[in-house]
Amino acid sequence: DDLVGVDSLVANTAYLRALEVDRNKLRMQRVPLTLPKPKKSTAPRTAAEKTYESLCEQQPIGRRLFEQFLLTSDPQCVAAAEFLKELSHWSFAEDGNKDKTKQRILSKFCQPQSHTFLSYLTAEDVKMIMALAGKNDEAAMEQMRDATRNYLKGKPFLEYLKSPFFYHFLQWKECERQKITDRYFYEFRTLGRGGFGEVCAVQVKHTGQMYACKKLNKKRLKKKGGERLALLEKQILEKVNSAFIVNLAYAYQSKNHLCLVMNLMSGGDLGFHIYELGERGIRMERVVYYAAQIVTGILHLHSMDIVYRDLKPENVLLDGKGQCRLSDLGLAVELPKGKMICQRAGTTGYMAPEVLKQEYYRTSVDWWALGCSIYEMVAGRLPFKDFREKVQSSEVTRRTLEDDCKFEDKRFEGPTKDIINHLLKKKVLFRLGCRKDDDPRTHTFFKSINFHRLEAGLVEPPWVPKPDVVYSKDTEDFRDNSEIKDVKLDAKDEKFFKEFSTGAVSVCWQREMIDSGVFDEVNKPELNGRGLENVWT
Ligand code: ADP
Ligand code: MG
Ligand code: MG
Repeated sequence: DDLVGVDSLVANTAYLRALEVDRNKLRMQRVPLTLPKPKKSTAPRTAAEKTYESLCEQQPIGRRLFEQFLLTSDPQCVAAAEFLKELSHWSFAEDGNKDKTKQRILSKFCQPQSHTFLSYLTAEDVKMIMALAGKNDEAAMEQMRDATRNYLKGKPFLEYLKSPFFYHFLQWKECERQKITDRYFYEFRTLGRGGFGEVCAVQVKHTGQMYACKKLNKKRLKKKGGERLALLEKQILEKVNSAFIVNLAYAYQSKNHLCLVMNLMSGGDLGFHIYELGERGIRMERVVYYAAQIVTGILHLHSMDIVYRDLKPENVLLDGKGQCRLSDLGLAVELPKGKMICQRAGTTGYMAPEVLKQEYYRTSVDWWALGCSIYEMVAGRLPFKDFREKVQSSEVTRRTLEDDCKFEDKRFEGPTKDIINHLLKKKVLFRLGCRKDDDPRTHTFFKSINFHRLEAGLVEPPWVPKPDVVYSKDTEDFRDNSEIKDVKLDAKDEKFFKEFSTGAVSVCWQREMIDSGVFDEVNKPELNGRGLENVWT
């Protein structure tokens, strides 16, 4: 027993130390990175990859290098780069600062007598922008952004493609496309266990960046026929790009596992916070904050015609800063265009009446589950199932279909009761989130939240996890020694594993290089003036 305790302690200490390296960007402990020469095969291949939007706006490293190129070009390009920077400040400015930032942008970039005037703006443009400003700032700024984009897409973009900066970009792309194996990471303690294997903490050797690695046992996958679902989960994770859903950073294979590497959520799941830490339930200010992030995540999925189908506090994880993300997209499905689906899926206690009655549905089920989850965060029990109540699922179904939701707990306030009641409407047509043109974000329950700033990560979390606490059960609880003997992997399986193992996910990988400081370390601009072979064909 003592030995187990020591093992656990050692595992926790190593894990906490790695988190600290990541948090404080401790360079000394990283494996240095050198950029390879780009090969012809690395150059962007498809038409979509060669666009200005992809190369200079969407890819974080591409955006940085293009900006650096502009800043070393003629005064017109320098002004354009500075304008884009200030525009992004304006877009995220707090209400009090927004007007001042706009005024500064207008006087610096939209006045012909200013030395940073954007001279590609025609007299017509200037007139229109000044007329719009004050009445509709968004539109005025959009006008300036469009004009700038049109200008940059022309000659500056073509020159960038011939510059050392773009050569450098291709070097980064070469690095991004390397084969990922176990050796790319250090591995730390197990954080949880799922149906096909464990989830453990890992750290990228080059950057110090921590991630969670969900390891799916190949033989177990085959035995239980989970391959198709695993690929589906991977493809959905890869597609979504939201601050409130776990993002996929890498997909690779090792000898025995398929691995999904995602944001590490070191603060534990909301179920743990409701039930395992002190008094049951979560303080109201936190409930509102988490619900706002959950709503934003759900709206992102729905905007891509994806239903989550497994929303519950246990699937909402907190990161080290105290922000939350939806995780476990194993039940999520893409809805066929304009069609409904009819398939029982979800967790007892959170399933909507239309699912229980086996009716056709689309995204409505997630709004019902949100109602259940807000209720649970406040009261430490579900609307139709008490804490630790031993009850048949048929009885939970009956209550869900027939009973009214009761609010006996004193912690329920007016707006909280109201939003839950609207989310728990048994008829889809009356439910919040499902009625024509309604937006749950405008409900008074969320009146303290500025969603635009929330999405940019600019709203301070009401609670921050302690850096010296592991918000997870002991590693011993996750041990699993069962072996799968009667399964043989064949060539068809190998082909599938290869299809799954696509390596680094571009935007995520580039962001990792920038956030960890590795981009700035490696990107020394001594490249300037160096002759360039043209890899662009
Ligand atoms: P399954 O789909 O097999 O249920 P999950 O994706 O739910 O697997 O992961 C299993 C457990 O691993 C979770 O309950 C959680 O405790 C832990 N876990 C999953 N993803 C992460 C993550 N990104 N960060 C930290 N822990 C995680
Ligand atoms: Mg799970
Ligand atoms: Mg799952």
